[in-house]
Amino acid sequence: MSWCGWGDPAKARELPEQIRKLLHDLLGVRAPDTPAAAIDDVRLPPVALPEPALAALAAVTGPAHVLTSHEARLRHTRGKSTPDLLRMRAGDGSDAPDAVVLPGSHEEVAELLRLCAAERIAVVPFGGGTSVVGGLVAARAGFTGVIALDLGRLDRLRSVDAESMVADFEPGVRAPEAERLLAEHGLTLGHFPQSFEYATLGGFAAARSSGQASAGYGRFDDMVVGLTLATPSGTLELGRAPKSAAGPDLRQLVLGSEGAFGVITSLRLRVRRRPAERRYEGWRFESFRAGTAAVRALAQEGPLPTVLRLSDETETMIGLARPDAIGGGGSGCLVILGVEGDWIGHRHAAAAAVLAWHGGEPLGPEPGQAWEHGRFSAPYLRDSLLGAGATVETLETAGFWSNLPRLYDAVRLALLGALGSPLVMCHVSHVYETGASLYFTVVTPQQGDPVEQWQRAKEAVNAAIVEAGGTISHHHGVGRDHRDAYGAELGPLGVGVLQAVKERLDPAGILNPGVLVPQSPPGI
Ligand SMILES: Cc1cc2nc3c(=O)[nH]c(=O)nc-3n(C[C@H](O)[C@H](O)[C@H](O)COP(=O)(O)OP(=O)(O)OC[C@H]3O[C@@H](n4cnc5c(N)ncnc54)[C@H](O)[C@@H]3O)c2cc1C
Repeated sequence: MSWCGWGDPAKARELPEQIRKLLHDLLGVRAPDTPAAAIDDVRLPPVALPEPALAALAAVTGPAHVLTSHEARLRHTRGKSTPDLLRMRAGDGSDAPDAVVLPGSHEEVAELLRLCAAERIAVVPFGGGTSVVGGLVAARAGFTGVIALDLGRLDRLRSVDAESMVADFEPGVRAPEAERLLAEHGLTLGHFPQSFEYATLGGFAAARSSGQASAGYGRFDDMVVGLTLATPSGTLELGRAPKSAAGPDLRQLVLGSEGAFGVITSLRLRVRRRPAERRYEGWRFESFRAGTAAVRALAQEGPLPTVLRLSDETETMIGLARPDAIGGGGSGCLVILGVEGDWIGHRHAAAAAVLAWHGGEPLGPEPGQAWEHGRFSAPYLRDSLLGAGATVETLETAGFWSNLPRLYDAVRLALLGALGSPLVMCHVSHVYETGASLYFTVVTPQQGDPVEQWQRAKEAVNAAIVEAGGTISHHHGVGRDHRDAYGAELGPLGVGVLQAVKERLDPAGILNPGVLVPQSPPGI
């Protein structure tokens, strides 16, 4: 993983000349004055943890699994949001952990948590490091030091129950490896977020992730039938049946807990048979409103396809749904329809009939294949755009169908008000019977301090989402960036409940301090 960008550095791409020109002509983007820092020049704070504390950590995991090198600390600094990348490029590594610790078992995690609670060492659980909401930055105040608890050694598929269609995984398995291991059994999770190449199963559960095929396979939290959580107060084992009426479901307290309540050390996940066939294609609608009516009909009356996304007019024109063919978009609004599994012909024909009835025009397989080919490429494009002097960031929300137009307008207006004339693109990314999520991509010229510039815009958007009745996150999570808005969503009693859970599971407050749990009184 690139230390100051996304993904495999070998896949880094030069920005095509047509996009450079478009950025300059449309938005006034200019190349930045200062080049990005080199890895050795990034400034990290000195290691604050004293030698005896490091030795005690090493006594649990073995000395080879406690790392304090410049590179190890730097690679566990923050996540992969645009402000995270901009800070790294500016040579700012001030949020680096003092050490990276790699436990090899649930027992080692539990022992480390006991030790850290006694020594007042803050612990940041670290999966793939792809958080985009500040979920990997611990507040240091009051702690002896901070460790990143890298779960990469917990990387096994432990068992498959083919009769129940359930697989038992350790949390540090990256998504491609999970798919490879399941493929040996003819199975799949069907979870393909854009961060697929690097994110881990534990991170998906901890941040309530949602993948591009969520219409067919569900969100990640739908897939978790059981889990183990190591906490400083002991271990929770949850999920002994697919559904239960035995009181509130505590799994739901752990899903989305972002490392603030404990460390997920195993996951029991619902799996499906690998699809024999896949078919992706494009449809054109005259307007976002018409396209929204069509995807709502599929979500409410069926048949629900496996992939369903609708780009607005701007995103369609830019061609963002097909990052490998960007700049070649068309008019109207593009729908990507994907059907996987059995009875493809029948299911496709039924979904196509609904889209056609709502005024959709079939564009054939080419846009669908281009989307499939480029479905993980957009983050690489972000790196090229950052280097060219444009800030590119994404944000998302969700709401009920009847409120979606208001939410769409509120976010756009907040971005326009805060940034002048940015390029704002949107797509409906996940659909449900009662509503959908909206996923925005923003491109704006870097001005002054680009991190502060974006933070001002982000604050305006957070306030607009709360005011317009949407949720502050559909799938990116809360982290630090959404914590106050989450507090506003929950209200004082809800925040109190969350704080009580935190206090019970983590009385010393060592787990991801500053992340998820709003301060009192909540407000935005
Ligand atoms: C380019 C890009 C594209 C993305 N696309 C999507 C997308 O399509 N859909 C989507 O849902 N998200 C997306 N994300 C966000 C991110 O990938 C998800 O939030 C993902 O779930 C994080 O997984 P991770 O393994 O990288 O976790 P990390 O980033 O390492 O951690 C995320 C949070 O969970 C905690 N955590 C991690 N592992 C554990 C554990 N085992 N136990 C307890 N807490 C833990 C961490 O402390 C942190 O607070 C994207 C991010 C990027 C950078």
